Amino acid sequence: MFLPTTRIELDRLGWHPLDVILVTGDSYIDSPFIGTAVIGKLLVEAGYRVGVIAQPDIHSEQDITRLGEPRLFWGVTAGSVDSMVANYTALKKKRKSDDYTPGGVNNRRPDRATIVYTNLIRRNFKPTRPIVLGGIEASLRRVAHYDFWSDRLRGSILLDAKGDYLLYGMAEKAVLELATCLRDGGEPRQIAGLCYLTNEAGLAEHRETYLELPSYETVAQDKNAFIDMFHLFYQNNDPLTARGLYQKHGMRYLVQNPPAAHLTQAELDAIYRLDFERRQHPYYESLGRVRALETIQFSLATHRGCYGECNFCAIAVHEGRTVRWRSQESILEEASRLTQHPDFKGNILDVGGPTANMYGFECSKKLKRGVCRNKRCLYPQVCSLLEVDHQQQIELLRSIRRIKGVKKVFVASGIRHDLVLSDRSNGLSYLQEVVEHHVSGQMKIAPEHTEERVLHLMGKPGKASLLEFKQLFDRFSLQAGKSQFLTYYLIAAHPGCTNQDMINLKRFASQKLRVNPEQVQIFTPTPSTYSSLMYYTEMDPFTRQPIFVEKEPKRKEHQKTIVTQKSFTVKT
Ligand code: SF4
Repeated sequence: MFLPTTRIELDRLGWHPLDVILVTGDSYIDSPFIGTAVIGKLLVEAGYRVGVIAQPDIHSEQDITRLGEPRLFWGVTAGSVDSMVANYTALKKKRKSDDYTPGGVNNRRPDRATIVYTNLIRRNFKPTRPIVLGGIEASLRRVAHYDFWSDRLRGSILLDAKGDYLLYGMAEKAVLELATCLRDGGEPRQIAGLCYLTNEAGLAEHRETYLELPSYETVAQDKNAFIDMFHLFYQNNDPLTARGLYQKHGMRYLVQNPPAAHLTQAELDAIYRLDFERRQHPYYESLGRVRALETIQFSLATHRGCYGECNFCAIAVHEGRTVRWRSQESILEEASRLTQHPDFKGNILDVGGPTANMYGFECSKKLKRGVCRNKRCLYPQVCSLLEVDHQQQIELLRSIRRIKGVKKVFVASGIRHDLVLSDRSNGLSYLQEVVEHHVSGQMKIAPEHTEERVLHLMGKPGKASLLEFKQLFDRFSLQAGKSQFLTYYLIAAHPGCTNQDMINLKRFASQKLRVNPEQVQIFTPTPSTYSSLMYYTEMDPFTRQPIFVEKEPKRKEHQKTIVTQKSFTVKT
């Protein structure tokens, strides 16, 4: 069942009034890959009446008022992507297309959508029920952060948007608690995973137990204080060890309660049992197809979280560094359901997660006592306590292949090659399995660079493991009688990267990888990553040493061109 999005559907269901209205910057796609659909469906399962307003017209009251006013709260999200990332390229040019908008034209998602939608609600409903911010834009902008698009530090989005609460990270548990609390007339300020604003008096209860981040005014003035702030913020993100945080903004305080507990496997499985339509809502479908559906409609998410901790990626902050995976039964049951879908043609386009091969194993120390404070699981080498084992993934892929109605199963999510190589028992069997059965001509891997100094700043493994992986991939492909190749995802203009580094990368790609790379992205400093911290401060945040940062758009583009241009010759 789709969540209602029109007055006609509300009347048909007799849902007057709704308990919760979710407002989103994406079209309404009913899929387990779309946060609005997951949160909405979970709330309905718990007995609440939930409606969705997707991509409302911000210049009229027509869309935002069409479902009335909710009884409990409004949920506001910019959608699956930060609206500034969705609307602008790494060189700050307006994007023409949007994969989450009907017809693919980028004309429905406003800049800073979370703020704009919250204002839209406030303009049309005065006063109204609490407005709760969520999704990746709100989550990663919940404390003071660097905003690349205005090239300055901004305070918490909760202040800018004038929202009442903000739920950060994967918010299923927190949103259910919040709904219960508001329904029962309780006080939500104790809910884990929730941020709110208060004054000096309201902070009293937390002064002893929560950690104070340097104030917004301080970090806006002092880059070293901003680095201190970010370390504290980053380290207090694990539900097993994190303390609550607070940060002064002018006369007010942003309070961040400790994160919500990770979902158990049973809870995760329950989400994927919900009856997702795996389609765009007909109301929006009539406006045009969304491109995102092509990749997510028949894909399977096997796990959440990532301990890769690439410095340019926000997944560690948003989803956490502990991988939680679904049971094989749950994934197989979902795969079987896919075969009954009227649009299914036999191909499952992806079996994966933030990183494909993190399914089915974790560090027992981390599961009991939380992530290490000053050590990373994969960098500079794979931690010996990680217990890497690809056996469960091999079994899972084999079982999915055996399901009646499934013709092909692909692994399209990126594979961490260092993890494969570090698994002495089953790493090679896994690679062989994937190469023989799950690659559609090309396998994506993301070395991102090849120069040690840049890789170090990115937190990525070195090129020796990349070469070893390539040799194995080529050998297994040959043995399987398949002509297939690796596609390398690379980044230009990452902090620390110079033209010479890109020339060296080009040389390595030509001579050792034997490719002319095409998948080269210019680095975008998205909110709340270590790489964005480097971009803004021009310092290595771990050593405080100055680093070169390319900030001039034309020269950033040149870095990319060095690698992508076929005619760019590298002298050997
Ligand atoms: S012990 Fe190793 S694998 Fe476990 S959390 Fe620490 S760094 Fe990660």
